[in-house]
Amino acid sequence: MYALCDVNSMYASCEKVFDPSIRNKPVVVLTNNDGCICAACHIAKRMGVGKKFVPYFQVKDQLAAVGAVIRSSNYELYADLSQRMMETCERFAPHIHIYSIDECFLYYGAGSQLDYVPAEGWQAHAAAIRRTVWKEVRLPIGVGVGLTPTLAKAANHAAKKIEGYRGVAVIDNEQARRQILKQMAVGDVWGIGRRLSARLCDIGIHTAWDLSRARPALMKKQFSVLVENTVHELNGSVRLSWDDVRAPKQQIYSTRSFGQRITDKESLRHALVTHSGIAAQKLRRQAGLASAMMVFASSSPHDQEAYYRGSVLHRFTTPTSDSRVMANAIASVMNKIHKEGVRFYRCGIGLVDLVSTKNYQGDLFNTSKDNAELMKCLDVINAKYGRNTVHLAGQGIEQKFAMKRAFLSPQYTTRLSDLPVFECD
Ligand SMILES: [Mg+2]
Repeated sequence: MYALCDVNSMYASCEKVFDPSIRNKPVVVLTNNDGCICAACHIAKRMGVGKKFVPYFQVKDQLAAVGAVIRSSNYELYADLSQRMMETCERFAPHIHIYSIDECFLYYGAGSQLDYVPAEGWQAHAAAIRRTVWKEVRLPIGVGVGLTPTLAKAANHAAKKIEGYRGVAVIDNEQARRQILKQMAVGDVWGIGRRLSARLCDIGIHTAWDLSRARPALMKKQFSVLVENTVHELNGSVRLSWDDVRAPKQQIYSTRSFGQRITDKESLRHALVTHSGIAAQKLRRQAGLASAMMVFASSSPHDQEAYYRGSVLHRFTTPTSDSRVMANAIASVMNKIHKEGVRFYRCGIGLVDLVSTKNYQGDLFNTSKDNAELMKCLDVINAKYGRNTVHLAGQGIEQKFAMKRAFLSPQYTTRLSDLPVFECD
């Protein structure tokens, strides 16, 4: 089983943590340089103000009229509260995958542990996670539980958006699955974007339930492997890996727990640079630049030793999408992340405060060190010949941190070298 924990209106909620006087007011957060609205709390949304990406000056008077509280984005605060929320969630499950600044998947084991049910039952377990995060971090979260990441996402959607669930939803039986999927538009399914959902609606697939009933083979033929896998996931079999699904637009994360604990600084740096490479590639695919990068690593709360977490928010002099610039930044903060004697269990990086290359305004005094041509070349080669065919030396040659995947099947559909070969005489 998987549980997806997701903070409601993350940035606006973070602003309310240390200032209870604004908890019942409409709060709106602005992007870098106070240009546009980038987040709004549910009160502001209900009032019809706080639409994302609207320039601030256009709605300034409207916001003042409803008494909205305006805040500039404070990524240092959001990044730290994010880590605290993850720490709390992590205690509830054997494994965690941090998916974005405000979302994490908890997973409870595969194979023989697949039937695991917490003693108190899933509903009470999910409610306990929600309650504990509120108690310890003062962030409101929604928790969705399901047999696959896609179903956990769907349950989370229900927890937040469908009336009657109030923050917690569990899909652990057929009736619950049917009930939630039927009330969910196909565009709200994990990984199905706006364009894809319009095309699905054209052929009569309007809800998540409709999609779950579609023929997987047909979906593959008409759309893509991703849609095919999504159909399987909606029916309860795990098909997607974290990196397959499109990253959320506003920040890009890449994280992993290690196959085995690592202790040396060099291996930790290799792992972090590998993650920055994955995230940077996703960033370039959406033509974005990152103004800041979160770098973090920690031990496991389930280990015997005292828990340790190191995290830094690094601001780039000019926004970047260049893997080399990010690798250098990681090298410069390693002393703040690594600690002798700590057995690291997971690490990752998050690119935050993203801007689009299209409307980015250059800085006269700080010229960008990005080499877009080189990065494009890197991406083209890796797309053609498989991930990491060409990579930075900073990722390490022999990756000690790589996941334990001794029983992994070949990547038939995505890696050229794994294509089955037939020989005919
Ligand atoms: Mg959220």
